[in-house]
Parts: sequence; C-alpha cells; structure tokens
Amino acid sequence: MNAYIPDIYEQFHCLADKCPTICCKGWVLPVDEDTLKLYEELPGIEGRHVRFHIQKKEPVSIRRQFGRCPFLNCDKMCQFQVNGTPELMPVVCRTYPREGVRYDKEARVVFSLSCPAVANLFMEHLGRREYVKTDRPLEFFWSIDNEDDAFMAFLKRDEEKLLDFLWQEDKDLSEIWPAMYAYLYQENDRIIRDQLERTDEVELTFDKEKHGEYVLLRDPTYSFLKIKTIDHMVLDHITYSSLSVKEPKFFHLIRRYADIFGRQYLDKVDDYFDTQMRQMMEECPEAKLKFKSYFSWTLQEIFPLSFEYYSVLRQFLFAVLYTQLYMIFDLVDYMEKGKNRSMDRQAEVLYTIEQGIRHNPRLNQNLMNVIRDEFL
Ligand code: SF4
Repeated sequence: MNAYIPDIYEQFHCLADKCPTICCKGWVLPVDEDTLKLYEELPGIEGRHVRFHIQKKEPVSIRRQFGRCPFLNCDKMCQFQVNGTPELMPVVCRTYPREGVRYDKEARVVFSLSCPAVANLFMEHLGRREYVKTDRPLEFFWSIDNEDDAFMAFLKRDEEKLLDFLWQEDKDLSEIWPAMYAYLYQENDRIIRDQLERTDEVELTFDKEKHGEYVLLRDPTYSFLKIKTIDHMVLDHITYSSLSVKEPKFFHLIRRYADIFGRQYLDKVDDYFDTQMRQMMEECPEAKLKFKSYFSWTLQEIFPLSFEYYSVLRQFLFAVLYTQLYMIFDLVDYMEKGKNRSMDRQAEVLYTIEQGIRHNPRLNQNLMNVIRDEFL
C-alpha cells in the first residue's frame, strides 16, 4: 500500500496544556470496532466504568458529560494516556488531528484545521501543499471499499491537474471556480455514464467558449454560492441556545454575521459580499493567498473521497462551500477587528470555523442539501 502524508507532517506539535481549546470537548467521539471490542473484554470495575460511558446506539460513541469526554481529567489529560493504556483510546482520539483514509491500495493522512496547532501551521506555510510517500506506521479511521484502480488513477491525475490550474497563474478564486465548475461538471457527466476514458476530451480552461452548457455567464464573484442560500443554512439550522454555551466563539461570529449581512437587501447582498472581500484583499494582500491556500488544502483533503461517491463535482462544490463560509466569517472578524489582526487571531478564526462547521454533523447534512438544491 502507498501511504501519503502532508509535507508539514513532522512540524506538527500538540500544544498540550497550552492549547486554547481541547479536542475532547464538544464533539461526537466515535468508537471504532476494535476499541469497542477491547471495552467489552475489559474486566472488573474499570471495564464497568468504561462501558457505562459508551453509547451503543449507532454511531457507537463516548457519551459526553457536560459536553466533555468523561475520560478527560481535571488536568485536561486523557485518563487512558495517564494510565498508560493509550490502546483504550478510540482511533479517532489516538490519531487526531491526523485523519487517515484508506483507498484500497492507497492511503492518505490529512491534518484537521480544527486543531489550533494545525491552524497555526497552515498560517505559517501558506501555499500549495504536497503529499509525500511515507513508510511510517499509520492508523486509519476510515476505509473505502472500492477496487476500481482505473478510477483511483484518474482521480490522482485529475487532482494534480486541478492544483496546477489553481496555482499556475495569478488568477483569483472568483475566476478559477467557474472554470473548474464547467470542467468538473462535464467530467462528472462522463463518469456517471461510465465513460471514464472520455474525460480526456474535457478541457480545463478560462476560455468560456469551451465551458459548454455549464458556462457561468455572470462576472467573476466570490459569491459563487448565493449568500441567500448560505444565510438560510447558517441561521436556520444552528441551534442558537446550546451554541452560545458550547461554542461561544463561533456563536459570536454568527451573531456578527447576522448583524452585518442582515442589514443588506437580498438582491444586493452578493455584490456587497464580493465588494467587501475585494476591499479586504486590497488592504491585506496576504488574504488572497490565504483563501487560495485554504481552498487548495480542502480540495486535497476531500477530492480523493470521490473514490467512494463517484462524483468529482460534489467534492469540488463542498470545497467551494467550505471556502466561502471561511471567507464570510473571516471577513466578519476583519470588519470587527480591523486590518492589523495578528496571525494568532486569524488562526483562531480558522479553527473556530472548522470546529463549528466541519465537526457539526447536522450542519454538514444541511450543506449537502444546499449543494444539491443549487448545483446538482
Ligand atoms: S486540539 Fe490539537 S493542539 Fe489542542 S490538545 Fe488537541 S491535538 Fe493538541
């Protein structure tokens, strides 16, 4: 099996007791089959204690107490680690913020930006990331059962092509997204019709004449997905009451978003967002690179999952949606704090958004609905 890790893999260091957040709080903590078996075989009082905190209903997970993992001690340390039994931690806890996925004969480990240490690394290393081959022993949380080698080879080639296109010229995301959209839509049509060999006929280009029926005729805009749709999803589907307690930083950003965007007329809000984004990028030129880097990182993280879904378009649209949400909340923070925000502050916004959006299963389902309604 060929396994790949990000080029900044060795530079990750957990912030441990200096971490401003903690990965054992607020999230669903799924228990994998092997660890569950260990729990079931664990004898005595310890066994009963551990099993008491396991929720057997699918997905099997650790039952949180007051929003925290019950095995987290008052020093913010995992009890299993302190006891010298790390094998009793579920895979997701043992490996976080690394997320390993097996794709039959390939595997990739990505870093989750919801971890403050990873968000800091991202800010310090803006640009295109490479995935490098590794021999180190890795654990995988997720395996995709598919033996379609030809499709995997295609996906690898296509991902490189998309990244080359993204990074080759000084074009911004507002111009890149429509070109990628037209390209991937045409590819997707061929994949669905089982014509993988005909995907070579599709051209990835800025030339709108070649975008066929999927050409987007509007001027380039950062509002690729309409704010109206995003607004509906963000405001309607987040449980405000518990969010203010569980994720106060994310709650604050949503409130600021509602204050700022709620004052705009519906037919003008997309122009407003685009104008504000361009103004921010003019005042903070590194913002352009930051968002491009985020889109690139996210694409590398989720594009290979097309191996399961057989939809390259779906994965691309998710990457755009996550990027646009990140842009919106980063803009909101910029409008509140001004252009001299520190790198630490920007990293804080990034991991807050990732925790609030990517680790919120209910919201993610709504994101899928948005994509389906608007684009699929
Ligand atoms: S969130 Fe990241 S930095 Fe913080 S404790 Fe967890 S792994 Fe360490």
